[in-house]
Amino acid sequence: MNPGARLLILGKQGAGKGTQAVRLSRHYVVPHISTGDTFRQAVRSGSEFGQKAKQYLDVGELVPDELVIGMVRERLTRSDTSHRGFVLDGFPRTVPQAEALEDMLAPNGLHLAVDIEIDTGMVLARLASRRVCVDCGANYSVIDNPPRVPGLCDVCGGEVVQRDDDTEGAIRRRLELYDRETAPLIAWYAERQLLTRIDGLGTPDEVTERIVLEVDRRILRSAGG
Ligand code: ADP
Ligand code: ZN
Repeated sequence: MNPGARLLILGKQGAGKGTQAVRLSRHYVVPHISTGDTFRQAVRSGSEFGQKAKQYLDVGELVPDELVIGMVRERLTRSDTSHRGFVLDGFPRTVPQAEALEDMLAPNGLHLAVDIEIDTGMVLARLASRRVCVDCGANYSVIDNPPRVPGLCDVCGGEVVQRDDDTEGAIRRRLELYDRETAPLIAWYAERQLLTRIDGLGTPDEVTERIVLEVDRRILRSAGG
């Protein structure tokens, strides 16, 4: 039996957050909730919400807390997540978002916040080679993990492109905001005994294995105790 899991993934741009979040959502059979993917879909749909979000995304700024929090709250009240759990990818990104999430999840709370650690030197190379499926959000790298058919997603057949915000200026801004707004969450979750730090170096399989080991240990402990 697979009881699910309630997880979130932290880590700077290029740490492999999205890749690992997809794998973990398959492993634990829970929805993958990516705020970045949700915003990109909204942008592509051309909705009013999407037009508003685009102004922030394109330049690497954070979407205002109240917009993001409302969106995640709506998603977390659906029955699939309330029963089995979720893998949150890209949320929370600020302390107010983490506080709002804590309220949303009471009384169950999280199993674990997973921080994937990576050297900033690695990040720029990874982001330059990163490509993403516009339909399902699957991540590729033109260097070490290209789609089998160039430009087409292995998973869903969608178009694989470079993200509009993987430009030098927007990357620099996102990394700045990560240090200022998101890195403090590492201490925030550590204080609550909810943090595990994972070395992000190695193949995707190796990193997934490291994470699953820690998550299983935690879930077992919370079930037994
Ligand atoms: P990355 O981790 O490479 O920056 P994401 O796909 O997670 O990529 O996010 C892309 C963009 O979506 C961010 O730069 C930001 O504009 C917006 N975004 C995503 N999640 C959040 C969030 N939790 N709070 C504010 N903005 C967000
Ligand atoms: Zn796809």
